[in-house]
Amino acid sequence: MKISHYINGQLVEPSSDAYLDNIEPATGKVYSQVADGDARDVDRAVAAAEAAFERWSKMPAAARSGILMKIADLIDARADELARAESIDNGKPISLARTLDIPRAAKNLRHFATAILHTHTETHVTDGVALNYTLRQPRGVCGLISPWNLPLYLLTWKVAPALAFGNTAIAKPSEITPMTAFLFSQICIDAGLPPGVLNIVHGLGAKVGAAITAHPKITTISFTGGTVTGREVAKTCAPMFKKVALEMGGKNPTIVFADADMEKVVAGSVQAAFANSGQVCLCGSRVFVERSIYDEFVRRFAEAASRLRVGDPLEPDTQQGAMVSRAQLEKTMYYVDLARQEGGRILCGGERPKAVNERCRDGYFYLPTVITDLGVSCRVNREEIFGPVATIIPFDDEAQVVEYANATDYGLAASVWTQNLPRAHRLAEQIQSGTVWINCWLVRDLRVPFGGMKQSGLGREGGEEAMRFFTEPKNVCVGT
Ligand code: NAP
Repeated sequence: MKISHYINGQLVEPSSDAYLDNIEPATGKVYSQVADGDARDVDRAVAAAEAAFERWSKMPAAARSGILMKIADLIDARADELARAESIDNGKPISLARTLDIPRAAKNLRHFATAILHTHTETHVTDGVALNYTLRQPRGVCGLISPWNLPLYLLTWKVAPALAFGNTAIAKPSEITPMTAFLFSQICIDAGLPPGVLNIVHGLGAKVGAAITAHPKITTISFTGGTVTGREVAKTCAPMFKKVALEMGGKNPTIVFADADMEKVVAGSVQAAFANSGQVCLCGSRVFVERSIYDEFVRRFAEAASRLRVGDPLEPDTQQGAMVSRAQLEKTMYYVDLARQEGGRILCGGERPKAVNERCRDGYFYLPTVITDLGVSCRVNREEIFGPVATIIPFDDEAQVVEYANATDYGLAASVWTQNLPRAHRLAEQIQSGTVWINCWLVRDLRVPFGGMKQSGLGREGGEEAMRFFTEPKNVCVGT
């Protein structure tokens, strides 16, 4: 099967006529081919997006909303097919794709399709001499670059607000997981999205992603991916004065106080550490535990981690599937070796499973791995692994755990588990991260600001922040 670009309302071949292999991570085998796009395809897509902008941006909000709602309905109607495609493409358990990724993609569309029916702009009366009002205008052609870990979820998290607020766009999914974006382009055609409003160009980051960020007619870049790539994107965009949002890596702390509900915190922190094999930017990979409950917590956490069912992602009861690629598997193995060299003690995992099933004999599987006895400032505890690896570290008091939590260059998310709410609020103020969850993890309300501090991000997405990002505020001052 061939995955083609979606440009100007049609599924089209790449200018190069070349395709890249698309590998199923659970089997390690090629199962489809994805268009090997380049700057010529980006140019075609930009021309289509420019041509579509005038009509789309002037379309009444209710009409734009109606088309985006239709896309959401078609995602729901094709949810089983999309979940299966995402599970094959990404290696994640089909149950996770079906309950998290695909419903959230539809929700992203509905959230912004309805938001534009209710937005308002500001008015300021200036001392009886003038009336100021703010026009919020779409910015034009936007570049939307997304990663492989939540392919349709993060693609639509950008596409929905960009289009809802009247922009047109060029999206570039990760070439490692292009299948759901391809199915999404078919859905956009079926929903009657006018040609050129959304264009999806597949291919390598170094070619297609770089061409998007460097294109002079693309004024706005929304990027989600690793911090190293984000830095490249920022370097290209800065001298062109593009508006940029960067959602990047994380090394998130989970903080457990002695008064936390043990059952709940073990279940919650294991989920936070190992969801999607630890390949969620928000995963809590550093677990800090108050010393008085450290031994009991470590025992229960490691037991729960080793009970997670690692298996064929297409089996309905699998809890942990394959890692997305050989490179990601090798990166994980590298960091577990490094943990051993840094003096870490592996309580469970630390290796690949013996056998998953015959179909998955050559897949990229790795066991949930729990490591203790590492210092806070060692590399394993500072660098993002993005695999099923959690470290556990004891702490003595509030001040110390805040220092530990902040001891990385990242600042994306944190979760704090305690029944002492004043303490939880104190920590929330002091932890350097864009989100702090208290007694929960990955609860997402699409109205709240989302993003990271320090090297985890620049700018915010979600709710009103997305409106601010994808529109240009113009002040109109009327003398009275
Ligand atoms: P990545 O390698 O940085 O890639 C992200 C996207 O950028 C992909 O589409 C990639 O294309 C593209 N790209 C690569 N080089 C580029 C360049 N020079 N110019 C423009 N685009 C380029 O990240 P990933 O490995 O796919 O995803 C994992 C990372 O994403 C982790 O660090 C994770 O924490 C982060 N993440 C952050 C969030 C958040 O909300 N903060 C959410 C999810 C993931 P190719 O795939 O073709 O290289």
